[in-house]
Amino acid sequence: CHSAEKYEYQAEVSRLMDLIVNSLYSNKEVFLRELVSNASDALDKLRFLSVTEPDLLKDSVDLDIRIQTDKDNGIITITDTGIGMTRQELVDCLGTIAQSGTAKFLKALKESKDAGADSNLIGQFGVGFYSAFLVSERVEVSTKSPKSDRQYVWEGEVNSSSYTIREETDPSKHIPRGTRLTLYLKRDDKGFAHPERIQRLVQNYSQFVSFPIYTWQEKGYTKEVEVDEDPAEAKKDDQDEKTEKKKKTKTVVEKYWDWELTNETQPIWLRNPKEVTTEEYNEFYKKTFNEYLEPLASSHFTTEGEVEFRSVVYVPSIAPTGKDDIVNPKTKNIRLYVKRVFISDDFDGELFPRYLSFIKGVVDSNDLPLNVSREILQESRIVRIMRKRLVRKAFDMILGITMSENRDDYARFWENFGKHLKLGCIEDRENHKRIAPLLRFFSSQSEEDMISFDEYVENMKPDQKDIYYIAAESVTSAKNAPFLEKLFEKDIEVLFLVDPIDEVAIQNLKSYKEKNFVDISKEDLDLGDKNEEKEKEIKQEFGQTCEWIKKHLGDKVASVQISNRLSTSPCVLASGKFGWSANMERLMKAQTV
Ligand code: ADP
Ligand code: MG
Repeated sequence: CHSAEKYEYQAEVSRLMDLIVNSLYSNKEVFLRELVSNASDALDKLRFLSVTEPDLLKDSVDLDIRIQTDKDNGIITITDTGIGMTRQELVDCLGTIAQSGTAKFLKALKESKDAGADSNLIGQFGVGFYSAFLVSERVEVSTKSPKSDRQYVWEGEVNSSSYTIREETDPSKHIPRGTRLTLYLKRDDKGFAHPERIQRLVQNYSQFVSFPIYTWQEKGYTKEVEVDEDPAEAKKDDQDEKTEKKKKTKTVVEKYWDWELTNETQPIWLRNPKEVTTEEYNEFYKKTFNEYLEPLASSHFTTEGEVEFRSVVYVPSIAPTGKDDIVNPKTKNIRLYVKRVFISDDFDGELFPRYLSFIKGVVDSNDLPLNVSREILQESRIVRIMRKRLVRKAFDMILGITMSENRDDYARFWENFGKHLKLGCIEDRENHKRIAPLLRFFSSQSEEDMISFDEYVENMKPDQKDIYYIAAESVTSAKNAPFLEKLFEKDIEVLFLVDPIDEVAIQNLKSYKEKNFVDISKEDLDLGDKNEEKEKEIKQEFGQTCEWIKKHLGDKVASVQISNRLSTSPCVLASGKFGWSANMERLMKAQTV
């Protein structure tokens, strides 16, 4: 039986279709980006599977996308030679929402409503297949999976709660493999079926698709045709026949239609970095990662030698929202290719440690096997080397931001990813040397602009050996701490650690350029101004007073000592050398409550 079978959409699908049609009406052209990206995904899947099952390619070897327009009837067809869909897949993929792009869209839509963002923003997200209904009255998806020997047609109409599936029985419509989408455009949107318009949209939206996209274009070539000569004229020019022969032809333009390659298929990472502009890198970033903001920095590099790979990596300009991002390395931020075949973007710390999981980019290796699995990735020596190089490049790139002409760039980076780097101090001992120069803190001499350790060291007193810091809740409470008095007096700079993670991070670093980090709230602070004679004197004078105070305070303090670190306050509560600082104690308490 070949009759069409009717299905109802899952309830969310109908809602989603309404939402898309109602919120993206001013940005309708995104439909092409979405459908081409699905075609490209389908080709990626096929190419990936064909590595282990070369037979999949037997019916047609070309992997490409072809877009044909019929402007008189307002019809666009988009044909790919990708993985196609079985009957069941048609139901699962085009009748329900289980798909990533659409799910992300729904989430963004919800968030942007709360934040009052405008609908243009939503156009930046992958809205998926249903965006076809932005411009179409009716959509036909005719598809053949290599797993099936039959071709099926899915058919849906705008504003309808159901769709149909039937078998394609017309042999003239058979395709060897893949999917052909036919869009019957709405009356007001028939303009999209102009070949030049489609060509422009493809160039604009699908510049970085790595399969060839052909569009059906009218072409012309000029041709010399002979014209019948006028007998009277011929007689007159009898004497000079040779030159006359030439004049008796005329130039005409012959029109014909043909496929024209419309995109650049060389992936950006395979191009020569000298020939790629910053704009191109930024465009690639935005298209690949569905971002609407430009990245803060990018780096394009090739490594040779032991392991060969090419990569373009980016620092985003904004951290993803959501609390658990810093501890959740399972982002889709790194896309791994092996010999240009997309393998996976599902990593869990294999290519970047979790504190650098905010880095986005593509990595293309010639050394990994095409059928690389997660287990192989985790065990692979090659991957370990790649990771090392990638991490190093990431640090170079971040260091580059510190040198940017625009000082705000690094401030912006720090605001978004400073916490990540501090986490790196705790988790990645091996890279302390790379992380430390990137850290920024307020200080007693710079309460508004954060400074680097290098700036601190520059500003050290000639006889100063250590880097001083104090941890507190805020800049205000840090600068009012009595511990600071003596250092203020001596004009020694003190770093203010005001973020809860700061102190642990610095303690992990231990030192910077051979200068130790010293907590000025600890009992044995030595400012290099000890006067033994005078101390002895004072000890004799106040020794008994100390004993007396200790007796009265009992277990509340570990000891009472004479100190030379105060200048105006009579006394201060200091932490033991090996104990927690007051700030740590506060943090630990906060955690156990
Ligand atoms: P997403 O691309 O984010 O998964 P879409 O709504 O764009 O979401 O597509 C839904 C699903 O439909 C895809 O995941 C895929 O399984 C299937 N699909 C869409 N277009 C094609 C195509 N041209 N070839 C094969 N499968 C497709
Ligand atoms: Mg999609």
